[in-house]
Amino acid sequence: MNRMEVHFGKRICADRLPEPAIGLSRLRLDHLLRDAAVGGGCLYLPERTGPSAGCVLATGRQSAPPSGDRIFGFKAHFSGPAGDAVELYFGDRFYVGVNPVEAGITNVCGLAPESLLRRLNFDYDALLGLSPALADRTRPLTRAMAWLTTGPLVYGRTEQPLDLYAAGDAFSFIDPFTGAGMLNALESGRMAGAAAARQLSPAAYRAALGKRLGRPLFMASLFRKVLEAGVGQILAPWIPGRWLFSLTRPG
Ligand SMILES: Cc1cc2nc3c(=O)[nH]c(=O)nc-3n(C[C@H](O)[C@H](O)[C@H](O)COP(=O)(O)OP(=O)(O)OC[C@H]3O[C@@H](n4cnc5c(N)ncnc54)[C@H](O)[C@@H]3O)c2cc1C
Repeated sequence: MNRMEVHFGKRICADRLPEPAIGLSRLRLDHLLRDAAVGGGCLYLPERTGPSAGCVLATGRQSAPPSGDRIFGFKAHFSGPAGDAVELYFGDRFYVGVNPVEAGITNVCGLAPESLLRRLNFDYDALLGLSPALADRTRPLTRAMAWLTTGPLVYGRTEQPLDLYAAGDAFSFIDPFTGAGMLNALESGRMAGAAAARQLSPAAYRAALGKRLGRPLFMASLFRKVLEAGVGQILAPWIPGRWLFSLTRPG
């Protein structure tokens, strides 16, 4: 992929990505990482274990639900003509991302508040029809799996045990529209592993990681507020797409 397109109704904010990108599902990335780790001499234990002091904690998002209209994520893989862009479609209180991943699959993934999803009976196919541009984009595609639902989602820094090196979503959950969650998980995982190996204090690790991810987390929350205020489509023509990309990545 080398392009990004952000759709706000009929307005499109399109730009080239700073460098060509490969789309990968989380499952495929997990397999690649596991195989590389095992190949490098790591022991892989498939069963779940409780973490002990000095460990890297990479157990994902916190589950404590926020109060109010809770946000849920949903995704499915589709077959059919694959594009070469990361596409984001913003509708009234929801957004959906469409992008190619491995093996000609198109990943369709979005977020919406519970109140809207209840109104639609959690029918995500119906939700795709709420945006004419998104409906046009997905019409030639065929869903290849049942929809998956996740949530409720809690943004930002996660409550974490102070004697562990929390990485990935266990450290912080960045808004998915940034597409930076897996990058942050890789970067924080690298830093957490190095800190644990060097026996750096968990507090010093948290401070270093907080500094590294501070700007992306702040910018993501700022963009979220702009979108919630409904001014995204007014500002869209004036903001280069690559800014949205670079401002939500670690420097
Ligand atoms: C709707 C949605 C869309 C997203 N879209 C994107 C996107 O387009 N691009 C992007 O980069 N990111 C995206 N993200 C974010 C991305 O998925 C996460 O940031 C990323 O997966 C974080 O990785 P992680 O390893 O920290 O956590 P997770 O992916 O949650 O992995 C944690 C793993 O730990 C396991 N686990 C939990 N407890 C234990 C235990 N005790 N023992 C052993 N294992 C345990 C869990 O089963 C899980 O497999 C999206 C997220 C959501 C919710």
